[in-house]
Amino acid sequence: MRVTCTDSSDSSDPAESARSDESSDASDKCDKSIECKSLMNFAEPDAPGAAQQRLVTKWEERIAVTSAVKDLAQTLKHAKYTVVLTGAGVSTESGIPDFRSSRGLWRNMDAVRLLSLETLYYQPEVFYTKGLELLGTMRGKKPNAAHKTLAWLEQRTLVDTVITQNIDGLHNESGSNRVLEIHGNLRTSSCRDCRRETPFEFLADAVKEGIVPPKCRCGGIVRPNVVFFGDPMPPCFDEAVQVAQKADFMLVVGSSLQVAPVAHLPSLAKQLAIINLEPTPYDSEASIVIHDRAGTVLTRLLEYIKAQDNTGISMG
Ligand code: NAD
Ligand code: ZN
Repeated sequence: MRVTCTDSSDSSDPAESARSDESSDASDKCDKSIECKSLMNFAEPDAPGAAQQRLVTKWEERIAVTSAVKDLAQTLKHAKYTVVLTGAGVSTESGIPDFRSSRGLWRNMDAVRLLSLETLYYQPEVFYTKGLELLGTMRGKKPNAAHKTLAWLEQRTLVDTVITQNIDGLHNESGSNRVLEIHGNLRTSSCRDCRRETPFEFLADAVKEGIVPPKCRCGGIVRPNVVFFGDPMPPCFDEAVQVAQKADFMLVVGSSLQVAPVAHLPSLAKQLAIINLEPTPYDSEASIVIHDRAGTVLTRLLEYIKAQDNTGISMG
């Protein structure tokens, strides 16, 4: 009954869902029961029983997420040092495909080949035209609710560091200040020999002028500052290991946790939570696991924490 009532409002307000979850008899307090009944009557003629079952399942899932979000809020509040580890899944809601899910870039073998050291070294014409174009599709996107919430959590001192595998720069753009981009970025390029940095646009400019591969003043080849398979990890990866060791809480958002050595970082944290659409190899080690969209879950978390702030009710 409580489940059905919650649906009548179709509220995405996490505080409201949380309150109805806590209430032992929410139906008494529900002032929308008429809408609720009419919704049920409307659905029944089409599929007797089935519509009701779907509704209940939907709300059971929603309530389960809400209670996990409450746990997440409490864990964030009590943790002394929180690290968030993000992957491509945090940016799919900004329109950038991930690698491994059903619509991911990895399903396209051309992408795998294009974004490789072999192509960069042995087929520079292919890399600097098609590969660069593919990287270019990840640029110019806008941060989504997940990035923005993580930036807000940092401002609220509930998150200390974001470690990201993403190269799209959307954490920085959304206002996160402490971000370790362990697979590089699409803002800069650098010379393979002298390491001199130039803006990423230098590469496209050089290609337009027919200079492939683009060269530095020293004669060295200039390449994107992105870590491809076979590349060494950048110095900020050591920092990522240190903060992961220091963290008493790590929240993983939108990563399949299958790319080494990043995939080992969750094992360093003392407590783990995971928000990912699909199961990951670390699910059994996490105290909180939410298989849902990052934007949806983090928005609920933000609204829940704001609701606690506004009502003055303690988070735990
Ligand atoms: P991955 O593709 O291996 O895994 C992404 C995971 O995110 C999947 O398990 C998927 O189920 C989940 N996911 C997709 N959309 C989601 C959403 N809206 N909410 C929650 N989860 C969602 O990505 P990975 O683990 O980051 O590793 C792949 C490598 O791909 C990284 O090295 C990264 O550099 C690179 N990459 C980066 C970008 C980017 O910068 N945006 C895009 C593609 C790939
Ligand atoms: Zn150089």
